Amino acid sequence: AESITVQELAEKLKKTAAEVIKKLMQMGIMASINQEVDYDTATIIAGEFGVETELKVAVDKEAILMAEPEDNEANLIIRPPVVTIMGHVDHGKTSLLDAIRETNVTAGEAGGITQHIGAYQVEHNGKKITFVDTPGHAAFTAMRARGAEITDIAILVVAADDGVMPQTIEAINHAKAAEVPIIVAINKVDKPEANPDKVKQELTQHELVVEDWGGDVIAVPVSAKQRTGLDNLLEMILLVAEVNELKADPERMARGTVIEAELDKGRGPVATVLVQNGTLRIGDTIVAGHVLGRVRAMIDDKGRRVKKAGPSTPVEILGLSDVPEAGDTLVAVEDEKLAREVAAKRQIRKREEELKVTNKISLDDLFKYI
Ligand code: GDP
Ligand code: MG
Repeated sequence: AESITVQELAEKLKKTAAEVIKKLMQMGIMASINQEVDYDTATIIAGEFGVETELKVAVDKEAILMAEPEDNEANLIIRPPVVTIMGHVDHGKTSLLDAIRETNVTAGEAGGITQHIGAYQVEHNGKKITFVDTPGHAAFTAMRARGAEITDIAILVVAADDGVMPQTIEAINHAKAAEVPIIVAINKVDKPEANPDKVKQELTQHELVVEDWGGDVIAVPVSAKQRTGLDNLLEMILLVAEVNELKADPERMARGTVIEAELDKGRGPVATVLVQNGTLRIGDTIVAGHVLGRVRAMIDDKGRRVKKAGPSTPVEILGLSDVPEAGDTLVAVEDEKLAREVAAKRQIRKREEELKVTNKISLDDLFKYI
């Protein structure tokens, strides 16, 4: 929370609610005991009582660290859409991701090292699209379970020779719960037994009515194997992105989500982060879950060292003190002391939670979506 009730504030200041309300009134704020005041106001009130430093201790540091700054309207830019591919096992999710990636490597990059960092960007008609290809699946299951939402558009892959299957339905439900727009990729249309109409008909039973059936769901026939329909799919992704007006403020300090992380023998803790807003820079102090760090190096999806990463950019970062978890929010912060304290507090909490190992999501759960 970025605010505190009058009651809570009074308690933290060791004053009565009436005293706090009186101070608020002197500031021209009419507040009742259960009303919330923001931290700026709370700080002023604390100052009035001469307990400024004490309030700093009392307020929720985690809330301060995580408080989302406002975008500056003047700085807003259109950011690339972040896309996740979902669908039933063997319907061609991995093949589609690979096909898109390989057919959209720009001339300059051809022959270069393309490394798997869990997400990649392609360019279509001069516009970028970010694909999450980690246990991308993790993006929707583990990450969602942890409250992290990174996806702007979900591509639902349905094999034209197999139709809607149990995991197709699960994927639809996930996307709907997250209120993420769905584009259907009807895959394997190269197969003689492919029946796209049957797929469309089955989708209507799950409230996905495609355009040529009078609905508003975009369905694109593709063949990951023969690499057909891919441009059309990218075109539709950009269309949906445009309708959704995805914007971000690159001038802010970075905020993103850890997509995957591991302990690399040579390099230490390495995390792939999707920067969602702001710009992450070398030297930034960061907190990701319980982990504190300072960005020592960043590597993009083409294996190149970069000095900064803007909105919707996936980047591998080095310089963390430990391995964060997929789904952790990463924030770059100015206040290193605050960062250290919050990370330490979270470490303690994490250890406590590890002691009660319940409701853990199994790897099987994670991987069944890709
Ligand atoms: P995933 O489990 O959804 O990731 O599916 P995969 O990408 O691993 O594909 C499952 C199988 O379907 C593999 O044998 C692929 O070669 C095959 N496959 C994927 N896409 C196509 C396609 O467009 N046409 C045909 N004929 N086979 C495909
Ligand atoms: Mg796969």
